[in-house]
Amino acid sequence: MLDIAMIRQRRKEIGEAAVRKGLTFDVEELLAVDERRRRALAETEELRAQRNRGSAAVEQLLRDGRRGEADTEKRINGELAAKLKGKEAELRELEAEYKRLLLLVPNLISPDTPEGTSDHDNVEVMKYLEPPVFDFEPRSHIELGETLDLIDLVRGVKIGGTRQYVLRNHGVLLHRAVQQLAADIAQEQGFTLLDVPIMVREETLVATGFFPDNREGTYAIDGEDKWLAGTSEVPLVSYYSGETLDLSEPELLAAASACYRGEVGSAGRDVHGLYRVHAFAKVEQVVICRADLELAEELLQRILMNARTFVEKLELPYRIVAVCAGDMSQKNYKQYDIETWMPSRNSYGETHSASSILDFQARRAGIRYRDDDGRLQYAFTLNCTIAASPRILIPLLENHQLEDGSVYIPEALRPYMNGIKELHCR
Ligand code: AMP
Repeated sequence: MLDIAMIRQRRKEIGEAAVRKGLTFDVEELLAVDERRRRALAETEELRAQRNRGSAAVEQLLRDGRRGEADTEKRINGELAAKLKGKEAELRELEAEYKRLLLLVPNLISPDTPEGTSDHDNVEVMKYLEPPVFDFEPRSHIELGETLDLIDLVRGVKIGGTRQYVLRNHGVLLHRAVQQLAADIAQEQGFTLLDVPIMVREETLVATGFFPDNREGTYAIDGEDKWLAGTSEVPLVSYYSGETLDLSEPELLAAASACYRGEVGSAGRDVHGLYRVHAFAKVEQVVICRADLELAEELLQRILMNARTFVEKLELPYRIVAVCAGDMSQKNYKQYDIETWMPSRNSYGETHSASSILDFQARRAGIRYRDDDGRLQYAFTLNCTIAASPRILIPLLENHQLEDGSVYIPEALRPYMNGIKELHCR
């Protein structure tokens, strides 16, 4: 959510941001409703004052024993009260429409965000290692998962339907190992680790900017005001909702959690294997800081670096792309993705995402701090994946496979894998 005074001032830029992000939002409609709302508010207040003056006049006339004049005044006041009731109803409707539209306003877009309409237009900004060249026919993670007894996709679907999977034996160990490595990186980098509710209220999703934009892709708990969040960004940002923080130093939070996604917009895409599933695990970083663009940029690079450290410890080739305007969600101001090389796709696939959100979430969630002059300000928020599994198991298994079908375990993972150096066929 943005400040209405700022929306008025920067209406052109916000209108353009909606178009560039491919959103159907009309800033002029919001401003027209706001205008009508403010007029209705002023008229309501005026009618209320008139009615109060009328009631006081009736009482005075009755005290003075001027019953006839009091009756006339009462009648006029009755008409005024009916008019007021109508105006109040109009105001309520306008307030509701104003709030609905305000939640649809897109965030501003950073000046260095590339132009474009989809992920094809994202711009590569750096690359780490070259993709491996195999002198044998490489296997996909699905084949490796079967032969090494790590993944059972057939029974996953039998139990839970499409986009579900079962991990087995060292597959489970790997899944947990990458998360533990990520949690350790977060803690080493000064992040406070939290274990948070992933079943959240609707207002929590609105407060973090996931609703109404992403309502369709979110699982609801039938009959309750509870939803399964798609990321721990939701509870991590909401952890401080409605609070005034001391942000002399940025607040660094991280959580490992399950993530649930309907993937409604991806029908038919990536249906095989572990790439796009309905439930996965993610270690996520969230930063809350002062409203300072330079500081936010520094922190964006810092959380991205933690993600890079993770992929580099896994010895995987990756690249970083600057995400284009059309591939960014409503709430993002600036975004980088890390894409890791996936041999079975013969391309890089997104494994991490780092976003800077300015005060868009903090305004909704009411997260504030006092600036140097003691004035209350809304904070800035940022977030970035450190590990998302099982997707990261795709490059891990596929890049590190050997000719005989075994898989090399990078050194950094071994302490979490009982020291195993290689996975071998049964
Ligand atoms: P996001 O929270 O949407 O920025 O996603 C962060 C990371 O979670 C992505 O880069 C992927 O690695 C992973 N991820 C997102 N959606 C899925 C999914 N449906 N299945 C598996 N992994 C996912």
